[in-house]
Amino acid sequence: MKGVFGSDSGPDLSHYGKKLFTASTAGPFLKKAGLSKEALSSGEWVKSQDGADRMAIALMEWAKAEGATSMTHWWQPQASTDVRTGMTAQLYNKMLKFSKDGEIEWSLDGDRLIQGETDGSSFPNGGLRATHTAGAYLTPDPSSPPFIRDDVMYIPSVLITYNGDALDEKLPLLRSADALKREGARLMKHLGLDTDTVFAQIGLEQEIFMIPRQHFLDRPDLLHTGRTVMGKFAPRGQEMSDHYMAPLATNSVFVDAMAKVQEKCFEMGIPLATRHKEVAPGQFEFAPMFGSMTTQIDQNLLVMQIIEEVAKDYGLAALFTEKPFDGVNGSGKHNNWSIATGDGTNLLNPKQILAKTGSTDVFAIVMAAMLTAVDEHGDLMRLSISCPGNDFRLGACEAPPAIMSMYLGEEITSYLQAFANGGSAAQFNTVLKEMDTGASALAKIKKPSGDRNRSSPFPYGGNRFEFRAVGSSQNVSIVNMVLAAIVANSFKMFSEQIEAGKDPKAVAQEALKKHMKVIFNGNGYDPAEQERLTKEGYTRIDSGVEAMSKFTDAKNVKLFSDLGILAPHEVTARQAVMFEHYTGMVEMEALSMVQMIEQHVVPSVENAKDVLKTTGATEPRLDAANLKKAAQEINDAIAGIHAAANAEEGARLARVLRLEQMVEVRKMCDEAEAVCPKEVWTLPSYADMLFDNEWLEQ
Ligand code: ADP
Ligand code: MG
Repeated sequence: MKGVFGSDSGPDLSHYGKKLFTASTAGPFLKKAGLSKEALSSGEWVKSQDGADRMAIALMEWAKAEGATSMTHWWQPQASTDVRTGMTAQLYNKMLKFSKDGEIEWSLDGDRLIQGETDGSSFPNGGLRATHTAGAYLTPDPSSPPFIRDDVMYIPSVLITYNGDALDEKLPLLRSADALKREGARLMKHLGLDTDTVFAQIGLEQEIFMIPRQHFLDRPDLLHTGRTVMGKFAPRGQEMSDHYMAPLATNSVFVDAMAKVQEKCFEMGIPLATRHKEVAPGQFEFAPMFGSMTTQIDQNLLVMQIIEEVAKDYGLAALFTEKPFDGVNGSGKHNNWSIATGDGTNLLNPKQILAKTGSTDVFAIVMAAMLTAVDEHGDLMRLSISCPGNDFRLGACEAPPAIMSMYLGEEITSYLQAFANGGSAAQFNTVLKEMDTGASALAKIKKPSGDRNRSSPFPYGGNRFEFRAVGSSQNVSIVNMVLAAIVANSFKMFSEQIEAGKDPKAVAQEALKKHMKVIFNGNGYDPAEQERLTKEGYTRIDSGVEAMSKFTDAKNVKLFSDLGILAPHEVTARQAVMFEHYTGMVEMEALSMVQMIEQHVVPSVENAKDVLKTTGATEPRLDAANLKKAAQEINDAIAGIHAAANAEEGARLARVLRLEQMVEVRKMCDEAEAVCPKEVWTLPSYADMLFDNEWLEQ
């Protein structure tokens, strides 16, 4: 890399992207196989036998050069959140032919590259597949480049049943990208902006916890579910917010691990630019430079896997679930989201659209479509973030509430209001404002028209929306599928009216008048405001299970089917998978709690009584019989869930078990921990887990 002085200087960054098959690495191999660089970016190679055969040669030669001998289609089963390490599926095949005479020869052809076959019935499928109807196929997604890890070349792919139903997270996402492309280009044409596509770009900020690995292994709840189901809070938490952006000090195992994660990601061409400590003790964040929806999601899944692996190498355990610890902040995965046209014009950037079209109306019309989407389909947005761990996060004063609204800031809000009321297309002020710091030696601050609002689930930030309520553990395909679908749907409705003869501006004005109410610029954490918004009819769905049940509402089934994203039976199947995943998670948590009571809490309590020379009668918090009874009642509740009439009913019961019964039992366990002498308490405490490494080893 040439520095400013024209010489090679600075640390060696030449490993960046070495293991990712993109223009810079693929060039020579494509050329050798008779393909152009455009063949890779256009994705056309998956459409013809010749293209596929040539790509197979290019990929195999690249794999050889990088020391890989195996290949796999790499796909994303549903319901992998919190249970599947890496959250993806793979099956490694040698790119070799084995002859009877004991010889081996390199081999990969177009047919093998373009289609894999596997068993669909063993992946969560919501009833779409059974053991006697198990066939499923894998086919590459050319929008996300192949990559190499160790001796394996990975081909990002989708999973589809014998009958053509989506079985994975990615196929609906790609279908939604088609809908956005089609409906986006259709509307833009009416607005004088000719483009053959409109696509979403996202940037995923990943929050995690890392704790000493031995403590993780010593806690059945963390080991099996990633979440503590009991644990008395430590004397110190995040009172001082002192962990937030604290130095990643030298000689810290955390800084070493984080740097290693970045280095490994760089090799895979993942632009993981940012790392810092987050608010809660033991909490950290990584953020990449944004990119295309499919590449970002694939890369985020890889980032999560790499974090998990690297943490282990450094004697740590990474926790991705939203709320591993009670009493301190949980983790999110902010889904920064914008849409752009083929030439890269960001449709959420007023300055760029103005430059492109010469009109301030286009931004207002796009915003009107955004408002329509969120106001009409807030239920789907809530559904898309209803992963089990978000139960404990949404609504607490650390994450946006489960009330769907949008923050636009006062200036844009008044601009849209004026536009809606037919005022002449007011010029939206895109110029940054200057602010004096009050100290004469300092530079003036340049700031945008609107402040940041971290209490909004979906704030606008000048050139993008940030879906802040998204959970840290999620495969965010469903989130982005929903965003693409609901926005494509607004675009479609606008186009239909315009094509019927209405003026585009009038269409947007009408939509704004109807949907302006979804804007909320205030403090979303304020309980009084939450009450007001609820009364005023904002979409508020506190229960994740309730949100899941909305998937099959007639309006939503119609939306997905009209846009060609999910057929009605695919929606039903996906919903069943969500219910079952939720119930499964709760069952694992409940069984972990029972095991911990029986193997740890009760024996500790008995020992404590000996040490303290007390009895259950004089110290009720050490009453083992009560604890045993509570464990039995959890077992009974699990039996009740098993006996539920259907998946939805089971999930509803599981929610009650988790958020009511287990919360009460936890209190008993935590009270017992409070009075047990340290020497008899056999589970790692919150203080151990959150502060050991921080204080003892740094
Ligand atoms: P903050 O935490 O202050 O919100 P970060 O820098 O941690 O900001 O993360 C912001 C994320 O948003 C990054 O991944 C960034 O690349 C992404 N981003 C920036 N601009 C856009 C855009 N136009 N569309 C989508 N994502 C974007
Ligand atoms: Mg952010």
